[in-house]
Amino acid sequence: MTIFEALHAPGGVLTYGIPEFRLPKKIVEKEMENLKKLGVEVKTNVVVGCSVTVDELFSQGFEAIFISSGAGLPRFMNIPGENLNGVYSANEFLTRINLMKAYKSDSQTPIKRANRVAVVGGGNVAMDAARAAKRLGARDVYVIYRRSENEMPARKEEVQHAKEEGIIFKTLCQPTRIHGDSLNFVDKIICSRMELKEPDESGRRRPVEKKGSEFEICVDCVIISIGTSPNPLIRRSTPDLEANSWGGLVVDPKTGLTSKKAVYAGGDVVTGAATVILAMGAGKNAARSIDKYLSELG
Ligand SMILES: Cc1cc2nc3c(=O)[nH]c(=O)nc-3n(C[C@H](O)[C@H](O)[C@H](O)COP(=O)(O)OP(=O)(O)OC[C@H]3O[C@@H](n4cnc5c(N)ncnc54)[C@H](O)[C@@H]3O)c2cc1C
Repeated sequence: MTIFEALHAPGGVLTYGIPEFRLPKKIVEKEMENLKKLGVEVKTNVVVGCSVTVDELFSQGFEAIFISSGAGLPRFMNIPGENLNGVYSANEFLTRINLMKAYKSDSQTPIKRANRVAVVGGGNVAMDAARAAKRLGARDVYVIYRRSENEMPARKEEVQHAKEEGIIFKTLCQPTRIHGDSLNFVDKIICSRMELKEPDESGRRRPVEKKGSEFEICVDCVIISIGTSPNPLIRRSTPDLEANSWGGLVVDPKTGLTSKKAVYAGGDVVTGAATVILAMGAGKNAARSIDKYLSELG
């Protein structure tokens, strides 16, 4: 059995996304060692869909494939200034810190050691990014969220931990543009105040901009954390793989089988950004189906 991983270290979000202060990397490394002891080979720096395709893996002799490529493609707000120096997606910011060890003083990985940071979004990933920015030395870290705290998707305890660490919450605020200095480095984020109207299709009350309410916050780093979706690379390089409107792979919920023979999928690439326990459950479920399929092959 072989794991192909695009990055230089295995473990997915557990390695590159969840910060050390919430999940010590020694735990993930130990789990990887246990897998290797069971005979699993790990090939890193292999981007499936680019270095090798799913069909080429079959030609190489693999008889079944499980796709668990996650939902690591960040969304942006598409507002002016998002391409300025000092603007990161939460995934990039956390990857630089966790996987590339940018927090170490002798690290070769560049990262903005900012004084004032704006994190846009209200989920668990936003809380991780805000707390990581604080640990990197920021004096003021703002979480900017367009609804009120009641609607925040982050778990209550994550919000509480962020507050205890001094993170400043700017709720009912939505960024409208990011401003840069003469060298194109971020120097402020401009926001509008919002009010909540009747619920939208998600069931949450719809935030609507209050006219003439714009205000600015001086920051030297902006981290966008408004969600992610599955990376389209494997989907696009495997024509007979069915995906839904937002790019998630379509599977049989009982077996994890995709629309393509002997190709199974599970985790965030199927559900969209979800939880570790759901991804692990999907992996175990597909493993049972693959075992049955291979046994019947003889
Ligand atoms: C910052 C952050 C904090 C989180 N905190 C929690 C938490 O506290 N509790 C919780 O339950 N969940 C949490 N989650 C969600 C959880 O981490 C994910 O739901 C889970 O990791 C999904 O597992 P997965 O195996 O589907 O995908 P991932 O963990 O995303 O792993 C996918 C792997 O596939 C690799 N890959 C992608 N494309 C390719 C390709 N083409 N070729 C080869 N390899 C590829 C990626 O590099 C990655 O290593 C968090 C997520 C983030 C981003």
